[in-house]
Amino acid sequence: MAYAPSRPNPSLPPVRINLYSDTQTRPSVAMKDAMMRAEVGDEQNGDDPTVNALCDRMAALTGKEAAVFLPSGTMCNQISIAVHCRPGDEILAHEASHIVTNEGGGPGALAGAVVLGLRGPRGMFDVPTMQAAFREKRRNAPPQTLLSVEQTANLGGGSVWKLDDLNAVLDAAHDWGMATHMDGARLMNAVVAAGVPAHEMAARCDSVWLDFTKGLGAPLGAVLCGSTAFIDRAWRWKQRLGGSLRQAGLSAAGCLYALDHNIDRLAEDHANAAVLARGLGQIEGIAVETPETNLVFFDTRGTGMTADALAAGVRAEGLSVSVMGAYRVRACTHLDVDRAGVDDAVRIIRAFLAK
Ligand SMILES: *Cc1c(COP(=O)(O)O)cnc(C)c1O
Repeated sequence: MAYAPSRPNPSLPPVRINLYSDTQTRPSVAMKDAMMRAEVGDEQNGDDPTVNALCDRMAALTGKEAAVFLPSGTMCNQISIAVHCRPGDEILAHEASHIVTNEGGGPGALAGAVVLGLRGPRGMFDVPTMQAAFREKRRNAPPQTLLSVEQTANLGGGSVWKLDDLNAVLDAAHDWGMATHMDGARLMNAVVAAGVPAHEMAARCDSVWLDFTKGLGAPLGAVLCGSTAFIDRAWRWKQRLGGSLRQAGLSAAGCLYALDHNIDRLAEDHANAAVLARGLGQIEGIAVETPETNLVFFDTRGTGMTADALAAGVRAEGLSVSVMGAYRVRACTHLDVDRAGVDDAVRIIRAFLAK
C-alpha cells in the first residue's frame, strides 16, 4: 500500500474532462491578476491588509465576531476541535464526515479527542439519533463536548441540511452542554442551493469555516470564523501547528476575488450536476443518487463493473472521476467544466459500458 499520491501516468492521455473533484479547479487569469496586485504584509503580525479584509468579509458573511485565515479546510477543522475539546473529550459527528474519514486521525493525534460516529442517510442525522448517543454524565464516561456537522455533507452526496433540521440538532447539542462546529467546506454551495444566507445557516454554530479551494476556485486558503475569544484561541493553535503565514495577501486576494465572482455561478455547477445525473441515470445498470449541489454519486453494481474498473476505463478516454467505494463513484462539477463537458462525460461512460 503506497501512502504517497502517485505521479501522473505518462502513458495515459491528458485529462480533458476533470470531474475528479472541485478541488482541481485552476485559478483563472482574472483571479491570478487580482493576486498579483494584492497589497501584502506580515500576516502573523496582523499586518496583511488583504488578509484582514478577507477575514472581515468572512466574519460579516457568517455573522461571527472574528475570523482567521488558514492554509486549508483540514486545518480549520483540526484547530476548531483543538479549541473546543480537551484530551479525552468525545465529539459527535456523522460516521462519514471528513474529520472521521479524511483527516489522518487528527482529532486523536492533535486534540486527544475521540469521535463517536453517528449514522443517518445522506451524511445527516436527527435529534433522536443524537440523543441515543448522549451518555449519562458520569465520572467514567468521556465528556461529550462538541457536535460537528457538514454543510454540505460531502460523502452524504453533497447534501444540504434543511435549516430546521440543522437548528434542531444544534440546539439539542447546546442543551446537552456541547459546543457546535460547522465544517462548511462547501457552505456556499448549500447557500446557493437552499437560498438561505450563510449567517442564518451558521447562526447556531460556535465555529464555522469556508473553503476557497473547492468550487470557489482559489488555489489555497480557508477562513475559520467564530467569537473573538474562539478566534484568539484558534490563533494559538495556528501558531502551534506552524500555520502562521507571512505575505498571505497573495492568496487572500484570490479568495476575495472568489467571493466577488464565483459564488452566484455555483448555481451553474448545480445545474450541470443535475444534467449529469439525469444522463447517467439513463445508462443501464447505473444507479444515481439525486444531487442537491455539485457532487454526483453513482453506483456501478448493476453494470457488473467495479468503481475502479469504470474509473480506469473512462480515464483512458480523458475523463477523470473519483472512486469512493467498491461500487461508488463520485463526479464533481465545478467552474472548469461546462455543459458540453458534462454531456461528453455521459457519452464517454455510456460508450465504455457498451463495449
Ligand atoms: C475538502 C473538505 C475538507 C478539507 O478541506 P481541505 O481544504 O482540502 O483541507 C473538509 N471537510 C469537507 C466536508 C471537505 O469536503
